[in-house]
Amino acid sequence: MYSVNIERIEKDLYELANFGFNPKDKGIYRQGLTDVDMQARRWVMEQFEANGLKTHMDGVGNVCGRLGDPDKPAIIIASHLDSVPAGGMFDGTLGVMAGLECIRVLREHNIEPKHPIEIIGTSEEEGRFGGMLGAQALSGNLNFQWLESARDPKGEFLKDAMQRCGLDIHDALHCRRDPGSIKAFLELHIEQGPVLEKQQKTIGVVDGISGVFKWLVKLKGKADHAGTAPMDMRSDAFMGVADFAHEINRIIDEEGTDKTRLTIGRVDLKPGYAHTIPGEAHFTLVGRDMSEEVMQQVANSCGKVLSSIARKHKLRFEYEQMSWLEPKYFSPKLVDLIEQQAKKLNYSYIKMPSGAGHDIQFFTDITPTGLIFIPSVGGVSHAPDEWSHWQDVEQGSNLLLATLLDIAQDKVSLNQ
Ligand SMILES: [Zn+2]
Repeated sequence: MYSVNIERIEKDLYELANFGFNPKDKGIYRQGLTDVDMQARRWVMEQFEANGLKTHMDGVGNVCGRLGDPDKPAIIIASHLDSVPAGGMFDGTLGVMAGLECIRVLREHNIEPKHPIEIIGTSEEEGRFGGMLGAQALSGNLNFQWLESARDPKGEFLKDAMQRCGLDIHDALHCRRDPGSIKAFLELHIEQGPVLEKQQKTIGVVDGISGVFKWLVKLKGKADHAGTAPMDMRSDAFMGVADFAHEINRIIDEEGTDKTRLTIGRVDLKPGYAHTIPGEAHFTLVGRDMSEEVMQQVANSCGKVLSSIARKHKLRFEYEQMSWLEPKYFSPKLVDLIEQQAKKLNYSYIKMPSGAGHDIQFFTDITPTGLIFIPSVGGVSHAPDEWSHWQDVEQGSNLLLATLLDIAQDKVSLNQ
């Protein structure tokens, strides 16, 4: 059995962490389509080239390094190279550098893969302009209107940021890969949550990405003087929010699963004065589950509960569904293959869904996909103290390598 050289991965990740490193808070500031992001990308391209990959940067800044026939369908290993502000050194980068290490192992052992292999460091995943720009470009999910109008929170247009990086939005639509040109899509990523560590497992064999819905809820009552209005004569919109928050766990118990999540992430009270009863409460409600049917049941229940709470507090209940993203499932055959390899390697693992989105979710409908997680210490990510133990990095990378080799050598059929 072949294995990766963890020291090389470690060296690469530390070197990549220098791009955008801030000594003050020890965070990495490498947001998508910034100068330092482009410097990092050029460095990664040098590493690709030094390891014999035919390398190019596409129209949105994805860096692509390919081994083998340029025309045959390729096995793609991809993750992102940008970071959130004050991010960590494993999020995204792990998947790219582990992919490169797989190439080194293949070349060292003169293994001739039967299919081309392409390593891709994707562009703007973390959301400076909305996120997953590179993956959406590759999978053909971009449209020109959006590209022209997208801005970052500081107001800079995506098209201007791209231009400063030497990229042109007109080229962004040409990054799309034909589904027939992709044999399979693999991603190795940190879990960014506490589950693996808590269960003392090294590997998460991810079977899908949770569906997500987002509501904007409005409870409307009556603003009143906080001193003169008796407690039993109020239409206090905040009381409605508080009552609903208390019902969340019951709704999940009754309608949800152990994979259901419901979160009120933001509450705005109007008029928002200490001495005034809130006449309106606007809040976000985000729900997740692996089953669209469960999502529907939970959403229905939220609506019913909110209506009855509104009646009780003499409020008007309105909501707007801002988004509804269905769950995405990875290919059962590829999930099985990853599981079998984890067993063969004697690594402890669990099957789990991903509550967070990843580049790979744009490929579930067009090619066989597989996602591997390794533990995040303390469940922490998107923060300077994001960490993963090198032993876990090594095992995750070995699992990626073993999975890649089986596909590359035609030892498995990925047809459903
Ligand atoms: Zn990530």
